[in-house]
Amino acid sequence: MWDFSTDPEFQEKLDWMKRFVEEEVAPLDLLFSHHGAVYDTKLAAAREILKPLQAEVRKKRLWACHLGPELGGEGYGQLKLALMNEILGTSYWAPTVFGTAAPDTGNAEILAMFGTEEQKRQYLKPLLDGDIVSCFSMTEPHAGADPKEFICKAYREGDEWVIDGEKWFSSNARFASFLIVMAVTNPENSPSSRMSMFIVPTDTPGIEIKRNSQLMDEDPWVDHGSHAYIRYNKVRVPLDAMLGGPGEGFKVAQARLGGGRIHHAMRTVGKCQKAIEMMTERAVSRQTKGRMLGDHQFVQGMIADSVIELEMFRLMVIKTAWIIDSQPHGAARTHIGMCKVAMTKVMHDIAYRAIQIHGSLGATNEMPLGAMYIGAISLGLADGPTEVHKVQVAKAALGMAKAAPGLFPSAHLPTRRAEAYERYAHILKKHNYELAVA
Ligand SMILES: Cc1cc2nc3c(=O)[nH]c(=O)nc-3n(C[C@H](O)[C@H](O)[C@H](O)COP(=O)(O)OP(=O)(O)OC[C@H]3O[C@@H](n4cnc5c(N)ncnc54)[C@H](O)[C@@H]3O)c2cc1C
Repeated sequence: MWDFSTDPEFQEKLDWMKRFVEEEVAPLDLLFSHHGAVYDTKLAAAREILKPLQAEVRKKRLWACHLGPELGGEGYGQLKLALMNEILGTSYWAPTVFGTAAPDTGNAEILAMFGTEEQKRQYLKPLLDGDIVSCFSMTEPHAGADPKEFICKAYREGDEWVIDGEKWFSSNARFASFLIVMAVTNPENSPSSRMSMFIVPTDTPGIEIKRNSQLMDEDPWVDHGSHAYIRYNKVRVPLDAMLGGPGEGFKVAQARLGGGRIHHAMRTVGKCQKAIEMMTERAVSRQTKGRMLGDHQFVQGMIADSVIELEMFRLMVIKTAWIIDSQPHGAARTHIGMCKVAMTKVMHDIAYRAIQIHGSLGATNEMPLGAMYIGAISLGLADGPTEVHKVQVAKAALGMAKAAPGLFPSAHLPTRRAEAYERYAHILKKHNYELAVA
């Protein structure tokens, strides 16, 4: 049974969300738009506007909808979440207003899956309540795409673990109450079971933020960088700071990444929809050579390509969400990889065309398009680079392939035609029907 409709009761919720984001959340986007603003719990003015909005979302029972009811969410499932995230993706602040901002979502998931009762009480509860933010500290200055290359280590000394090494691009560390740090604890094990995960409060002695790197669209003269280069100088944590078991760091990391990737893809659909709306508005508003931009075929081509690519991408994301909801854990792995690869390209291409149709205005920061265009670059790197996901998608396809049965491929037409001839030779010969090429 295939059905593309949304049930009317849920559609009402979506309609409310759309109105709420456009009317109530938009001022936050306009007033506090710098990178990191949504994570800065000390940004008092923004927090004062934020809190009542979060309360309203809770009242509407739309808070933290990526979670099941046991963790305070509504348990709508991924398909409904996809439709919700399309709306949240149109706004920088909306995920925070609705309790679904990354990377806290992924960190909450692994705390829920692998945390002890005490870890959940101390870290998960305030995180889910939106009172604190967290950081996932995995990538290292010399290696990122391949976690098996990591060297930041943790060793036992008495009743403590001592973490020693460097991490790179630990987003939001400067705002976080705690960091989840991956470190080599069992160097003798195979690469995928050498590392463990630790929960480290940010005020633990020995944590040194060397620098907060900025993205390419940030002003180097304003200290808003939010991607920390951290040195862990023999940072001591108690034995119960480990999240999951010794050597399970890789497994814990894997568990958080799938959700993060597909949620980004869902929000990207919303961003692309917004870019297309801007594109079409411009095309029916501005004139050149005596005709509206939208009457010129080049512009029509850009709009058509954008609409078609977004529709394909949206269907892929929705199908992936459906697989997650309806099939065993892990069944959507390849589809999530496909979405991860596609979202970067779709976002990049649509944002680029929207910029082009806006001409010089598109190249300024007076439109939200530049941020979308540059955001596509981050989408192609964060949570693993495009190439790594392509490799995974290709391996899944290759894993299902069989080698050709003989010298020629199984689809080789002369071979197949000869087989078909052989099968019906008794009839074909009766009618003097001979193959032209044997
Ligand atoms: C906006 C943003 C936020 C981030 N937030 C976090 C965070 O919170 N915590 C965290 O730990 N990390 C974070 N990262 C880091 C991110 O996970 C890494 O950038 C990513 O894993 C790639 O690692 P790298 O940058 O070291 O690139 P490298 O590993 O050096 O790879 C560089 C390039 O080499 C190519 N490449 C790599 N591997 C392969 C392969 N197997 N096959 C073919 N080509 C390959 C790709 O083109 C890749 O882009 C963030 C990154 C960005 C951009």
